[in-house]
Amino acid sequence: VVLVRRQMKSSDRWAKAEAILKELDEECGAPAAKLRPVADAMTVEMHAGLASEGGSKLKMLISYVDNLPTGDEKGLFYALDLGGTNFRVMRVQLGGKGSKIKQESEEVSIPPHLMIGSSQELFDFIAGALAKFVSTEGEDFHLPPGRQRELGFTFSFPVKQLSLASGTLIKWTKGFHIEGTVGQDVVGELTKAMERVGLDMRVAALVNDTVGTLAGGRYNNPDVVAAVILGTGTNAAYVERANAIPKWQGLLPKSGEMVINMEWGNFRSSHLPLTEYDQSLDAESLNPGEQIFEKTISGMYLGEIVRRVLCRMAEEASFFGDNIPPKLKIPFILRTPDMSAMHHDTSSDLKVVGSKLKDILEIPNSSLKMRKMIVEICDIVASRGARLSAAAILGVLKKLGRDGIKDGEKQRSVIALDGGLFEHYMKFRNCMVSTLEELLGEAADNIVIEHSNDGSGIGAALIAASHSQYLQIEES
Ligand code: BGC
Ligand code: MG
Repeated sequence: VVLVRRQMKSSDRWAKAEAILKELDEECGAPAAKLRPVADAMTVEMHAGLASEGGSKLKMLISYVDNLPTGDEKGLFYALDLGGTNFRVMRVQLGGKGSKIKQESEEVSIPPHLMIGSSQELFDFIAGALAKFVSTEGEDFHLPPGRQRELGFTFSFPVKQLSLASGTLIKWTKGFHIEGTVGQDVVGELTKAMERVGLDMRVAALVNDTVGTLAGGRYNNPDVVAAVILGTGTNAAYVERANAIPKWQGLLPKSGEMVINMEWGNFRSSHLPLTEYDQSLDAESLNPGEQIFEKTISGMYLGEIVRRVLCRMAEEASFFGDNIPPKLKIPFILRTPDMSAMHHDTSSDLKVVGSKLKDILEIPNSSLKMRKMIVEICDIVASRGARLSAAAILGVLKKLGRDGIKDGEKQRSVIALDGGLFEHYMKFRNCMVSTLEELLGEAADNIVIEHSNDGSGIGAALIAASHSQYLQIEES
């Protein structure tokens, strides 16, 4: 059967393409009046998630971190950061008084087949890379004789912590989909893999990347109250009053505080401006129905949303001519860094857009008009994500009572931000920051967004240091 596509007249094509673009713009629009209910819903869900287990789409996970680094941490510690597309190993020699004597790290990209393979393969790969890294430890690093090396394990997925150094995986997110890991203690899995490769190391802390970033941020700045990741995935952690966590069964910590890993990527609300593209993306994803907020915001998905819009324009408006470019049909072929490059194209003929279309989608000829429309799609999709991120941050500030000016008093709150989307996608970052200012009004003067570069790894090492098995010995 040969399918004959009815050829559209050129003027009809443009009109149809413009209509699709306009519809997208309307559906993604997030003026302040639409963002405030999102922020309020976030605050409400935070309360619900703290009240009872399963009380909300927001898991509000208890981290068992009830003390953040003080600067007194000393000694050699390792960290392993497993999250999005890369994983990082690092070691740091802490000197006390807030000093890092020496720090080294290495980034290893995860072979894609491991993200959807078996649990043992993934952990063996990680342990192998860690062992290799440990073998390159130089003389600047010092481990007192007879001691075991200790590790902070940053694992950027939802985990139900059983203690500071153990926890079971609730579900995979982002591109990971590995049978048999859900419900397992990931520290146990890592420890077994380390034994298999003959690496003698103890996991002293298991932390989410947001919790690590919070710890790393606090080490540098005592005003840090929350951390947000805008990267492959998205999430936030913050310092909660321990007596404001009704579901907490244990003893109240001495500090009176507890770090909460919100898992805000799974937030969902009828106030979210969602489109047909979001729906089909979700339905065809590895985790349908899950991480809806994350799917509208984070780096794993923004480029894919743009691809879906382009697909519809190709199909219904013959945007790229009579045929649909075959590459355009491949999910996730348009990555967010490519989208960002197109979005930031300042050349008068939009040549970056032209070359991305050519190199990635094999669309050799594109007119300036087409390129302009594509930039506009990038702008609409990125702005929605950035504005929703700002609303979510406002929701957290509200929960903390730090979204206004109290009795005319200035209370400085710093939020540590990290993740590739925040770090590299400038238009996204600027839009997020300006939207937060718009929403906060004059209270914006009291809120500082601080880029906490690679804070999650160092943060995990710091938490490991403050929970070292040798601490008691040293103190006595
Ligand atoms: C995970 C979080 C993580 C975030 C950022 C999400 O997909 O569920 O645990 O903090 O990505 O890495
Ligand atoms: Mg990371």
